[in-house]
Amino acid sequence: MTGSSIPVSLFQGGLRCLPQRPLPTRISNSRFMQRIVGEDDGGKLFTPEEYEEYKRKVLPMRSENRLFVSWRSPTGMDCKLVGPETLCFCTHRYKQHKTDFRTIPQQRPLSLPCRVTGCQCGAYLYVPLNGAQPIRCRCKHFADQHSAAPGFICNACSKCSGFHSCFTCACGQPAYAHDTVVETKQERLAQGKPVGQDVPYAAMGGLTGFSSLAEGYMRLDDSGIGAPSVEVLDSPVTARDHPFLKAFQASSSSPETLTDVGTSSRVSSLRRPEEDDMAFFERRYQERIKMEKAAKLKGKAPLPPTTKPS
Ligand SMILES: [Zn+2]
Ligand SMILES: [Zn+2]
Ligand SMILES: [Zn+2]
Ligand SMILES: [Zn+2]
Ligand SMILES: [Zn+2]
Repeated sequence: MTGSSIPVSLFQGGLRCLPQRPLPTRISNSRFMQRIVGEDDGGKLFTPEEYEEYKRKVLPMRSENRLFVSWRSPTGMDCKLVGPETLCFCTHRYKQHKTDFRTIPQQRPLSLPCRVTGCQCGAYLYVPLNGAQPIRCRCKHFADQHSAAPGFICNACSKCSGFHSCFTCACGQPAYAHDTVVETKQERLAQGKPVGQDVPYAAMGGLTGFSSLAEGYMRLDDSGIGAPSVEVLDSPVTARDHPFLKAFQASSSSPETLTDVGTSSRVSSLRRPEEDDMAFFERRYQERIKMEKAAKLKGKAPLPPTTKPS
């Protein structure tokens, strides 16, 4: 936001200073990092040290034991790939369920219980929406009016024998004929399903990369196998990087970010209208990393000439 776009009304009533949006002072405040940590910090932000420790501990496990979650039609088609924000029948998001395993349990189907205190959901269960609305049970009540405890009976009536919806999916099959499938990378490959690149983010579920964020992930792991190293995760954007990252990097010197001595104040905190969430987080994170690198270099040697294509 530039000064000229601040609404005039803010200056009325004798306001001398505009309320300052608190700027992130640590990497641990970036929402890019939050994607990696998911709900694992219990709502308290990690310190940079805790974050490094977390990455060392969790990323290899996540790469090894990634679980893919999809909502599968009886024809074998994945009608929905579950992502971190996808709602469960229990009304909580996928990322609020247990999604990381040190050892993957042998029993199938794999149950991913909800971690929200007091929630009775024992296994992540996808329910489609009808437009923006929850779908209805044959008892006429909405999905979210039913108990998340096994049995899924209705809280609003006594005639329901357990949630059952005849809502028809776009694939032509009724919702009740679909299954929420949780599978390992090997199981998914055996089904001939795509697994995409390994990514460091928490609770990715069935997402295998689409839209611009896939490009962001791809540079995190060239091989497609194994957890990206800390060096790779923390490396600055260079001329060799994907145009997606360079484009965001190049625009970080636009007037909205201005030049200032402080490092944090130069991070552009405004979302461009065309950016999706992940692109936004990625841009913020890369800007910060680049500035920290630059600040470090300043003490030692002059900055190398930028190799930005003109
Ligand atoms: Zn829940
Ligand atoms: Zn749940
Ligand atoms: Zn019902
Ligand atoms: Zn009911
Ligand atoms: Zn379907």
